[in-house]
Parts: sequence; structure tokens; C-alpha cells
Amino acid sequence: MRIADMHWRQVEDWLKRDNRCVLPVGSTEQHALLSLCVDNILAERVALEAAAPTGVPVFPPVNYGLTAYFMAYPGTITLQPETYVALLGDILASLAGHGFRRFLIVNGHGGNADASEELLTQARERHRMQVIWHNWWNAPATRAATRAVDAEGSHASWSENFPWTRLEQVTQATGSKPVADMDLVDTMTPTQVRETLGDGNMGGVYQKPDEDMLKIWEVAVRETRELIENGWDPNAQL
Ligand SMILES: [Zn+2]
Repeated sequence: MRIADMHWRQVEDWLKRDNRCVLPVGSTEQHALLSLCVDNILAERVALEAAAPTGVPVFPPVNYGLTAYFMAYPGTITLQPETYVALLGDILASLAGHGFRRFLIVNGHGGNADASEELLTQARERHRMQVIWHNWWNAPATRAATRAVDAEGSHASWSENFPWTRLEQVTQATGSKPVADMDLVDTMTPTQVRETLGDGNMGGVYQKPDEDMLKIWEVAVRETRELIENGWDPNAQL
């Protein structure tokens, strides 16, 4: 259940019978001709749809993440890694203080995963909390469903092109782009990244039929829901 649709006594009541919650995290960054908020839109939507039948509270997404490499694209915002870990750590501490003990992070942006290890350590050592860090797009079933459509897909390509990440009145590109060498991109300055990637699609076809995308989406929602329901370690010392 979306936290925006709850008041605090409802959260208190929830905590009397359960200790799970979900936090979507994304990034505000260039996604070629798709929304700058693709990673936020997808992480929040998959989290909300997955949690809907369970009643588990879904907190508002953290819409900023780690994306230093796209800083030559206007509209992109990056946090320092220390800021990001501190921000997520404060959210974790707040939730732990209220009695949440099982916390699913639904991540929509690859760069954010760099913070996951530090956060999991904090959760274990300081808060007696179980945290699952879930990169929704490359979890096993979703990844397999995506690959079944096309093995080649990358940042801002078809694999992020859903009816809810396209922009009204913007004609999307057609055709495809060669896949960029990620190792090489990692060594570049933001200006070089922009010169290399042009519009920002990191490679692959720009768009697939919505029918294919909806099938992948269903798998992603089911896989995320499975974690909310059964992803927890029953033997964890909480
Ligand atoms: Zn993305």
C-alpha cells in the first residue's frame, strides 16, 4: 500500500501484525528520448503492483541516486556515494526505530547497487533488520523474460521503453544502436560519455511491441511479489 494513501495510525496498526515494508529507489538521469525519471517510474510501479495484494506499505521512492557518468546530460542529478549511503542509512534507521524488521529495496538503477553492501552491513550490525536489495530488472526470472525477447538491451533502449516511460508528444527513435563497451564507458569523463553515446541509448533496439513489454512486466511484478511474500530468511535473528 502506498504510504501516501496511509495515515500514521494505519502504519502503527500494520506494525502490530507485520514488520515488512518496501522502498523503491531510482535515479533522475538521461534516458535518451524517454523520461528522465525512467528508473523512478519503473521501480515505484513494480513495487506498488507487487505489494498491492499483500498490503505491505511502499514508501515514496528515493528519486536520486549515483550517476556521475551522465552528468553531461542536462537534467541528470547525481549524489556523492557518501551522501547516498547516509541517506539510505537514515531511512533504514527511521524504519528500524518504528519496528520494521524486513525491508525490501526495489532498485531501478544499476549505479545504485554500489551502495548496497554498505547498507546491508548497517542493517545487520546496527538495526537487526533484514534487508533485501532487489535489482528488479535483472532478477533471474525478469532477466530471462527480457532475454527471451532480445538478448541485446541496455540503458535507455527498448528494455526501458514501456508505455509508462515514453513521453506524450515525443516521437521515439526507431531502429537500433550498437551496444556500447561498458568497461570503456567506465573510464570516460562525462563529456566523453556524451560524445560516445550521443542520445544516451547505450545500445540495442529502441522499441519493441507493447505486447512483449507487458509480458516482461508481468514477470517482474510476480518476481518482486514473490520476494515480498517469501524472500525472507525465517531463521534471521531479529
Ligand atoms: Zn534506467
